[in-house]
Amino acid sequence: MRIGRAAGVTDTGRRRLRNEDAFICEPPLFAVADGMGGARAGEIAAGLAAAALEEADAKTRGARGVEALIVEANRRIWERAVEDPATAGMGTTVTAALVDAAAGTVAIGHVGDSRAYRLRNGVLEQLTTDHSLVAELVESGILTPEEAEHHPQRSAITRALGTEPSVEVDAFTVDARPGDVFLICSDGLSAMVDDEEVASVVEGAERDVARAAEALVAVANAHGGEDNVTVVLFDMAAELSEGSEAAAVRSVADELVVAETVTDDTTAAQGVAEPEEDDVPSEAGASLRRHGAGPGGRLAAILFILTVLALGALALYWGVVR
Ligand code: MG
Repeated sequence: MRIGRAAGVTDTGRRRLRNEDAFICEPPLFAVADGMGGARAGEIAAGLAAAALEEADAKTRGARGVEALIVEANRRIWERAVEDPATAGMGTTVTAALVDAAAGTVAIGHVGDSRAYRLRNGVLEQLTTDHSLVAELVESGILTPEEAEHHPQRSAITRALGTEPSVEVDAFTVDARPGDVFLICSDGLSAMVDDEEVASVVEGAERDVARAAEALVAVANAHGGEDNVTVVLFDMAAELSEGSEAAAVRSVADELVVAETVTDDTTAAQGVAEPEEDDVPSEAGASLRRHGAGPGGRLAAILFILTVLALGALALYWGVVR
């Protein structure tokens, strides 16, 4: 397996004057940080987090490796805030993903309310848990998820990087398969766009992650753009040489053409049957597989009809010559 394509986009949104989000899109490392604090402190905190993560090297591995990077980022932000009163109280979220393509795993490290998702077979799964006030209230049954979405305190986070001398990091590993799309985003996306719409926008971009990232930011802004919006997307692909990849595409195309040809011939030969399927030509290949007759079944039907016709002609012939 290998990392396919990757893209990162950040946008100030429609309401904020500055962008205090930062991101990393440097395969195999991806991350989003959403800074907070007065003046420019939020930008500084997010920038320090990103810089610390970028020090990852080939020896940085797995969930423990990502966790160590985040702990180091916390230390640097905290020290800076202590030294520089202008930045006192600054902090940032961080959600980082480190891909081990050979192992087929993605290590996630997470603090705050930025999120990591995995889109697999059209289903979007949130991999991280928000460290936010509303997430805790939902967890304890005080708020419903719907109430949390519109709660005035929904951006209040309960865990951040740099606000304390030490930090508890959620660090874990998830599996990756060819075709998976991973998304890391700030709450400027997740608060504006629900999961269902996120999934449909990414699917709609047909594996063009750069187009999908731009589209997600555009949707967040169309829904109000109340916060900075940051989106990092990458997909996983099968390990294939260029030649075999082209051959695989060609063979799929050939299969579809063959399936459609057989469908059309059978319809013409039978002159009846299965109008629902054949009314929709674009679905011909899919309906063939769904209904399970297959080219073999169709061929048998043609042969059967031809045999009946031949027997009929033979009978007619015998009738005439007698
Ligand atoms: Mg935010």
